[in-house]
Amino acid sequence: MIIAIDGPAGSGKSTVAKQVAKMLDFHYLDTGAMYRSVAWCALERGVDLSDADALARIAADERIEFAHEAGNPIATGVAIAGKDCTHDIRTPRVDRVVSTVSAVPAVREALVEQQRAIAADDDIAMEGRDIGTVVFPNAEVKIFLTASPEERARRRALQNAEKGYGETDPAVILADIIARDKADSSREVAPLKPADDAIELDTTGMTIDEVCERIASIAAEKRV
Ligand code: C5P
Repeated sequence: MIIAIDGPAGSGKSTVAKQVAKMLDFHYLDTGAMYRSVAWCALERGVDLSDADALARIAADERIEFAHEAGNPIATGVAIAGKDCTHDIRTPRVDRVVSTVSAVPAVREALVEQQRAIAADDDIAMEGRDIGTVVFPNAEVKIFLTASPEERARRRALQNAEKGYGETDPAVILADIIARDKADSSREVAPLKPADDAIELDTTGMTIDEVCERIASIAAEKRV
């Protein structure tokens, strides 16, 4: 079974998809980390971000690897081209450019192919922007999470403060979220939008447990 969880930046996709994967004993994939890894690699190499071919080569040729501890479906780290970038992909420097990189059609093609291969025959909760619309249009469960931009910025600031890396100023995060929402929703290829058959959940005022219980019960209904 595939549970596709899409939504804008900071809507709680990661937290929710991870928890749902643990509850149901599913695999989990954070597709945003893949776009972030390609963006980080391009910055490290000084690649001109308007050079779509160079970005596409990174996405197609450089291996993205998720580190896993035995028995834990949630990756503990990510590397591209053999270099760990777990923390670096969450920095404001990557926040600022990732939407430019993810708008390149050939970058998306290369990463979508990998995402489909990772899911293969496994049960998986996959989170991103286009999982229900493009990557797995036939996913059994499609969820589109939303929350107000202010709520999303507040959550992301708290989350980064807890983790000890990434931006923690809610005003800076809010500006980033608004800019990325706009870029991700208006791009030509695979724009951020709910699939026609997605269930939209506005999580403002809902606890994480409530959101996860809801998704788990939707998945249980589909299973029978
Ligand atoms: O999910 P996260 O905020 O980490 O994603 C970072 C960026 O990667 C998004 O702003 C978007 O540009 C891109 N992305 C995408 N498609 C996905 C996942 C992420 O375009 N499936």
